[in-house]
Amino acid sequence: MKYHKVWSKSRKELFLACPRWWIIRYGINQGNWDRSTSKKWHSMSDIRPYWDLMLRSSKQTIFERLEDLQMNVEWSQLYTERRIRENLTSKLLQQQKIMSIHEIVGTKNAIDDNLELNNVNVENLLKNAIKRIDALWNTDIIQALINRYHKQWMVFERTEYGSVNGIDLYCGPDIAVKIQNHWHLIRIDMQGKKDSCFEEEEAMAMVSWIRGKYNLPILANKFVIRIIAWRYGFWNQHRFNSSEQKLTQSIHLIESDINQMQIMLSKLGDDNSMSQIPLAKDTSTCRKCALRESCPGGSNLSSGIMQQSVLELAELSQGNSKVTY
Ligand code: SF4
Repeated sequence: MKYHKVWSKSRKELFLACPRWWIIRYGINQGNWDRSTSKKWHSMSDIRPYWDLMLRSSKQTIFERLEDLQMNVEWSQLYTERRIRENLTSKLLQQQKIMSIHEIVGTKNAIDDNLELNNVNVENLLKNAIKRIDALWNTDIIQALINRYHKQWMVFERTEYGSVNGIDLYCGPDIAVKIQNHWHLIRIDMQGKKDSCFEEEEAMAMVSWIRGKYNLPILANKFVIRIIAWRYGFWNQHRFNSSEQKLTQSIHLIESDINQMQIMLSKLGDDNSMSQIPLAKDTSTCRKCALRESCPGGSNLSSGIMQQSVLELAELSQGNSKVTY
């Protein structure tokens, strides 16, 4: 099966954390790529804990508020809170619809238990969302935009992709601002990991995604990347300078990621057997996974990994005729 070359930081993180989960979410169904069946399949496996839905609605609200700010429309606190509530409610309803399909196929209860979907404290989620958005609005960069210090700036939807060397990159910045002679590409990370080793790879991918578009420069050294990440209850900022050399290195890394993904997908074979697809490296990944019920590592990762090795051996001894589970 040929992998439709798509790269984003979240895909890479999932691929490294659990190839099986990655295969189910992004790998299977390559034949239906870009068709509605593929999107349906993707949303069926994309069940999130409520916390993640809160983060997504906060990001959506930030994006809408920035778009209005560009049009010189500033939101009141009351309106901001109303929009967060509406966005969160709509995401909860959307997920409920998907869960009703899982109810029909009999996987709902297990997902509810794994992701603790039976208890939702909407008010607490909203409180956390408002805290993040209020704090973001007080950062120097957003205040500079509100006070019109910078004349040229843009907001981007991250669903847009850019093609580089035949790879679809989903890694656009959230905001691009011209400050003196440089374009600052800003990425808002709603839940920054403590030590994300892919931050620089993603930062450079952002430059590859944007350079030469929207009348922006082509030269790599005309960009500065700023990651604003929520860590330990605050927005922390991290900067990267860009250079041609760093861009080339990041594209090589991305190409190598795509190769690894292709190799993994080839292990699936034509009959979609999962016996050669590794399970998660750590049980903490399984705790957030909606696929536990159907996974050999779902209830006990170590015994699932052993079971997997036995199946792989069985397959080898049968001369590559695949064992499916
Ligand atoms: S339950 Fe664990 S091992 Fe199984 S797919 Fe989910 S994350 Fe991977």
